[in-house]
Amino acid sequence: MIVTLTIDGRRVSVAPGTTVLQAAQWLGIRIPTMCHVPGIEPAASCFVCAVQIEGRRTLSPACAMPVAEGMVVSTDSADVRTARKMALELLLSDHAGECVAPCAARCPAGLDIPGFVYGIATGDHRRAIEVIAERLALPGSLGRICPRLCEEGCRRCDLDQGLAIGALHRYAADRDMETAAPYTPQCAPATGKSVAIVGAGPAGLAAAWYLLRKGHACTLFDAHPQPGGMLRYGIPAYRLPKDALDAEVDAIRRLGARFQMGARWGSDFTLAELRQRHGTVFLAIGAQRAQGLRCEGQEHALAGTEFLERVATGTPPSLGRDVVVVGGGNTAMDCARSAARLGAQNVRILYRRGRQEMPCAMDEVESAEAEGVHIDLLAAPVRLERNANGLLLTCQRMTLGEPGASGRRRPVAVAGSDFVIECSTVIAAIGQAVERTLAEREGLGVTGWGIAADERTLATNLPGVFAGGDAVLGADLAVRAVAAGRIAAASIHQYLSGEPVTGEPAMPGIAMRPIDDAERAAIFRAIEQSARVPVPRIPMEQRLASFDEVELGLPPDDAAREARRCMTCGCRKQDCCLVRSLATEYDVDVYRFAGARRRFSQDLSHPEIVYEPGKCISCDACVRIAAAAGETLGLAMIGRGFDVTVAVPFGRPLSEGLRHAARQCAEACPSGALALRTARSCDSCSLSC
Ligand SMILES: Cc1cc2nc3c(=O)[nH]c(=O)nc-3n(C[C@H](O)[C@H](O)[C@H](O)COP(=O)(O)OP(=O)(O)OC[C@H]3O[C@@H](n4cnc5c(N)ncnc54)[C@H](O)[C@@H]3O)c2cc1C
Ligand code: SF4
Ligand code: SF4
Ligand code: SF4
Repeated sequence: MIVTLTIDGRRVSVAPGTTVLQAAQWLGIRIPTMCHVPGIEPAASCFVCAVQIEGRRTLSPACAMPVAEGMVVSTDSADVRTARKMALELLLSDHAGECVAPCAARCPAGLDIPGFVYGIATGDHRRAIEVIAERLALPGSLGRICPRLCEEGCRRCDLDQGLAIGALHRYAADRDMETAAPYTPQCAPATGKSVAIVGAGPAGLAAAWYLLRKGHACTLFDAHPQPGGMLRYGIPAYRLPKDALDAEVDAIRRLGARFQMGARWGSDFTLAELRQRHGTVFLAIGAQRAQGLRCEGQEHALAGTEFLERVATGTPPSLGRDVVVVGGGNTAMDCARSAARLGAQNVRILYRRGRQEMPCAMDEVESAEAEGVHIDLLAAPVRLERNANGLLLTCQRMTLGEPGASGRRRPVAVAGSDFVIECSTVIAAIGQAVERTLAEREGLGVTGWGIAADERTLATNLPGVFAGGDAVLGADLAVRAVAAGRIAAASIHQYLSGEPVTGEPAMPGIAMRPIDDAERAAIFRAIEQSARVPVPRIPMEQRLASFDEVELGLPPDDAAREARRCMTCGCRKQDCCLVRSLATEYDVDVYRFAGARRRFSQDLSHPEIVYEPGKCISCDACVRIAAAAGETLGLAMIGRGFDVTVAVPFGRPLSEGLRHAARQCAEACPSGALALRTARSCDSCSLSC
């Protein structure tokens, strides 16, 4: 006998006793499941496979519903999707797990930090660079200059000191470059499509790196003689030597990038011409226009970025002995430290807010001070005049008022506090702006700080034109520019492939809400305290006498030692967890029903698997697998309601419950609750591994 039914408008005839799920699979229709284990009695516990059957008032689980003659099934109606979404939101309401390591969640490029660090810790350097290259272009340059937002998020900060993550990816990149055959990723076959990239700074270079890998030809147009943007013409060599940058640019060239240097958008070509020739354009022109001092006599000041560019190109201006740098960001620190290297005897930074409000990394401030730069806080210029002896800079003292739009406290002038500084050079390092008038002239939308582009896709208002990096954000950070290049490449690839342009797929990152002391203790249980390995630096005498790189790379033994401090946080199954991928597919609000969550704990007693009860979704797949495999003790669902969890009966250890079905259980577990020890690297930490 045969049963005929209709699923999503398609008729299918199957044997009686077949489930709706099996009949749908027969037709090639996917119904998501989590608790279903082929060949094992269904439990219908997760309700993610819910479908609508005509004539029934409630939804039915497809895994446990036998087919019936004339049945009409709908697997993807609005009601079905809503029910699945709610089922997932309920499953996640008390989840105690963390998909992504806290360090990686802080990196603007979303680098898989535990993944690459594991490569270094185990001596698998090729793996380290491959993991890095997936998310981060220019890792050697960024390892030197990135403000390392990730390190503040490192879980080890709660134990001893955060991991030296930047130094480690610099190590991986430098080491790779030293090999006879540096890593060159496999590129897809040529698509015959070409992309014009305007600007060969970090954003443009990163876009080329990822587009070339997809098989699209790339030509980078740049007004400067050499690629690198601010990494070459802004950041001084003592922080980023040009040969380190060159090596990374060469890797992109080797992938097939073409460079047309000395070609300026606005004078040498128009956007309309580029669009006609290439069809698709990525605008990565950065924020290159230096801002003036914004006070009377500002024409007597040198622009910070112009000064640094002259230093970078070997034609520094003469500064005299007393130099004042106005500003509190990276440009100001770089100008001051460069001036000190060029022989200025008194270098003073003038900043209108306090030390806490300085927008550059604090170790930059400390390095400048160590090199003799004096930092004068809460002081702002009022007037600049030239006289026979040099320059007179009139300043006034400031105090901090209420926070402004940026969240930083506003500087307010103190009446009658004027004072005058006599000096030979004043350098304005106030900030840089984007050439928005050029963009507007070509029909592009603009914002208050740059070219207007969709946050997720980086598409502009012109079809086929994308923009990213400082050009969109205003003067910002290299790591965000590199991330923008990668996101733009994903969108451009979709555009060129005729797919909807949605940008990179974003998986929700489930994070545990506050961890209490007992949980913290559980996380650190197996971890020994160990100090961060220091990054070597050249001696002070050598620093001021040259533009030699100050921070040296970690020696191999130190790099491996530092890498071994990593606790490999983040979930073992973050890339294959069904809960997470379905949460993405159904666009769930992971905190919609968030209530009291489970407690984090970790069972490391089994030699093959790790059990983290807080991630268990009570689907009982493992219980059924253990029983089917003939385990003597096996597993059981213990407790009631939200407190129900999987455990070995009679309080026996996991190794006794699962003597031979452990691997099978871990592989079938739809979440990271049961995971193979080898799914990730280290077994000592965390909310996760
Ligand atoms: C002095 C200084 C120090 C810094 N220090 C740090 C740091 O320590 N850490 C950090 O993370 N970030 C730092 N930054 C910021 C960082 O350099 C930038 O965020 C990053 O370079 C932006 O990358 P981008 O590719 O968007 O733009 P850019 O690097 O500015 O590159 C833009 C490119 O476009 C080209 N271009 C511009 N206009 C045109 C045109 N009309 N036609 C053709 N080509 C054009 C330029 O020549 C340039 O090569 C610093 C910036 C400066 C200025
Ligand atoms: S790019 Fe910066 S934030 Fe990201 S991992 Fe490297 S140092 Fe950390
Ligand atoms: S210990 Fe390792 S994985 Fe954990 S937060 Fe720190 S760097 Fe990231
Ligand atoms: S089990 Fe899944 S959802 Fe939970 S932390 Fe791990 S990857 Fe994220």
